[in-house]
Amino acid sequence: MSVERSICPDIYHPAIARDGLLTRLRIPGGVLNELQCATIAQLLDTIGLAYVQVTNRANLQLRSIDRDLDSGLLTKLTECGLAASQTAIDGIRNVMLSPTAGIDARELIDVRPLAAAWLEYLDNHSELGELSNKFSVGFDGGGSVSILDRPNDISLLAVGEDKFSLYLSMGDRGHRPQPVGVDLTIEECLPMLAAISQCYRQGIKTIGGELRRPPRLRSVIRHFGLTEFGELVRREIAGSSRLIFKNRADRDATQVNEDVHLGVHPQRQSDRYYVGIVLLLGRATGAQVSGLGAIAARYGSGHIRLTPWQNVIVPDVKERDLQKVQELITDLGLVQTATHPSSLLRACAGMTGCQFSATDTQADAIALSEYLAAKFTLNLPLNIHFSGCDKSCAQHERADITLWGTENADRTGGSYRLEIGGVMGECGQETSDLLPPERVPIAIGSLIATYHERRIDARESFSAFINHQTSAQLQELLHVV
Ligand code: SF4
Repeated sequence: MSVERSICPDIYHPAIARDGLLTRLRIPGGVLNELQCATIAQLLDTIGLAYVQVTNRANLQLRSIDRDLDSGLLTKLTECGLAASQTAIDGIRNVMLSPTAGIDARELIDVRPLAAAWLEYLDNHSELGELSNKFSVGFDGGGSVSILDRPNDISLLAVGEDKFSLYLSMGDRGHRPQPVGVDLTIEECLPMLAAISQCYRQGIKTIGGELRRPPRLRSVIRHFGLTEFGELVRREIAGSSRLIFKNRADRDATQVNEDVHLGVHPQRQSDRYYVGIVLLLGRATGAQVSGLGAIAARYGSGHIRLTPWQNVIVPDVKERDLQKVQELITDLGLVQTATHPSSLLRACAGMTGCQFSATDTQADAIALSEYLAAKFTLNLPLNIHFSGCDKSCAQHERADITLWGTENADRTGGSYRLEIGGVMGECGQETSDLLPPERVPIAIGSLIATYHERRIDARESFSAFINHQTSAQLQELLHVV
């Protein structure tokens, strides 16, 4: 196992972080079977970690590792499908599906076979290991749980029973991919993905020779321009003029509700339900991972699904078993409701793991979650985001409430700038005063109490409430803080 600094790590190439080695397990499609769940629990036990963390790519992250994973452990991970057998391509097995693929009552196409075919293509093309380890492909079946806002390099969105629309990442870091005016039949998808990947690889050779790390696909597209890059792709597959890439004026801005998968939902299959479960900051202990795997084996179809919102789903539960499953999930210390204060809480690595962080975002977020859970019953989801610096790694979109870590002027530590109501507006309202971490729970609690008192009715969301406040009222709200 070789260790490198400043890369997007994979299981064979961990990165050095502030708190030790950092590595990621690529979980294509976010699907874990019972054996894989048990293996992850054993891995945590062996290397002495309290928890694993689901990432916003529905992969798993291990941090604060104090030793190399030995070859025996790596072999075990490979044998149960938690690592690629070829070290070169482990990092690019970023295959994201809607976590409700195949069970979503509203989906147009079950994308699982297509994703499996893409994974097989990757397994047979080790030359694609030259791509950025962040290279990712998303498959969206057009159902109610969409991943279209996730910043994948390529996304395929089902727009009919045999039709996908092609989306490519072209904007800034963290921006969602945009449509390029090309529709594909199911049979055309794999050749298109292969052609884009191969042209991306050729493009890296053209522009990336001097760079330390391979550029992202968006940089290659920008270098050539979308039209020219599209022509390279079209030549690669000898495609018709129907496949010409176009800059579209009608950029996609559909709001994706990331909480819709939480709780109990009927599936497209009769008498089957899925249960969406909250993981606080994506964290799950070994006992929780193996426990969820066992629940899925006993009452579901033997697998769980990680979500790109750092949560997890247990699918395929019969109605008669729902109550038992929910009790077992509660026994594991996990909640299943979108209105729990943990459900839409996000935090980046923070100062324990990242040298750029001014604050301990993870600890501060957990302290806030505990405070809010003890004091409030929310009736609508609330998205709160802690970021250790302005890079916003944990959540690129605006949140209802954002706490931005900032170094104190006297360099005695860090505090937070508070931004509220960023969801509906271009930019939220910010406090000018800095908020010390220990005051965060009381300040946010006070803000939520005011929102509950003054909102029009219980159906008014926090962002809607903020959006109709006058400037004076907003200043007053921030003053309460
Ligand atoms: S947002 Fe900033 S502090 Fe947090 S992990 Fe990213 S770079 Fe580090």
